[in-house]
Amino acid sequence: AKKSLTSSHQYYLPEMAQQLSSRLTLLRKLGQDFAQHKLQLWYQPQVSLQTKQIVGVEALLRWPQDNGDFISPATFIPLAEYSGLIIEIGDWVIQQACMQIKQLSQLGFRIRIAVNVSMQQFRSPNFVQSVMDNINHYQIDAKQLEIEITESIVMDEPQTVIKALQQLKAIGVNIAIDDFGMGFSSLSYIQKLPLDRIKIDRAFVANMVNEVSVAKSSDQVLVETIIRLGKKLQLVTIAEGVEDAAQQQALIALGCDEMQGYFFAKPMPATELTRLLQQKIAA
Ligand code: C2E
Ligand code: CA
Ligand code: CA
Ligand code: CA
Repeated sequence: AKKSLTSSHQYYLPEMAQQLSSRLTLLRKLGQDFAQHKLQLWYQPQVSLQTKQIVGVEALLRWPQDNGDFISPATFIPLAEYSGLIIEIGDWVIQQACMQIKQLSQLGFRIRIAVNVSMQQFRSPNFVQSVMDNINHYQIDAKQLEIEITESIVMDEPQTVIKALQQLKAIGVNIAIDDFGMGFSSLSYIQKLPLDRIKIDRAFVANMVNEVSVAKSSDQVLVETIIRLGKKLQLVTIAEGVEDAAQQQALIALGCDEMQGYFFAKPMPATELTRLLQQKIAA
């Protein structure tokens, strides 16, 4: 058995080494591009299901490449987290979001901007202070900034996270729980967190409407349950990844408050968001 283990290691080693080296290359490039201000923050509208008005946006990182493509955040965020670079990038994201809130409010648009926050940012001792500094620097209403956390972040270090969230909540920052429903284990924490909004994961939204049967799909039951839970806890519910009219209708019928997804709009650069908001006003 020992011999086969050795030989299988010999077999996989070159491949693993190559994977590691290409990740390190990618990470080095990410650091360079970030330093050269090549990362962008795009914004995806969040819409009230009652009024169809844009009530907020989620800020999403974009890493453009020379050939016009983008490397997905799903690829580079884990690298940035692993290396610690996410702390600097995350600081920049919050600064950009606050600046954008300021710019939009000067144009007369009062919308909320939600940013994604990684565990490493919560662990960094200056995190809460840095959020406060940005809010003060741009003189924005803290209520217009929202922090998105995932269940797994909360589970990871509940005390660290809960303390930081309470401090942020105390100054008025909104807190949303992202990808909700993916990890049932943390249900008991939900009541301990100072939450404002529950984001229903797009995996459930995608399978909610069953075209071949009138019977409720298990995902529809799940979405319904999350919306009820939200109402019980007096939290706003927002469904992610809404891609068509049938999903929108089903969500309205279930009493969901807000939606975000390609059906309304894809993530877009700040200039495009401004144009969209100006069109909506003119219309
Ligand atoms: P997430 O927070 O769950 O973000 C939602 C993702 O769903 C985004 O992917 C968005 O573009 C995509 N999406 C939105 N509407 C639809 C839809 O109707 N259909 C489909 N199929 N997809 C939709 P994106 O931008 O690739 O981001 C992936 C993940 O990367 C995010 O997942 C988030 O976890 C992470 N991420 C993005 N920006 C940041 C950031 O600034 N900081 C941190 N820490 N993580 C980030
Ligand atoms: Ca998110
Ligand atoms: Ca999400
Ligand atoms: Ca997700």
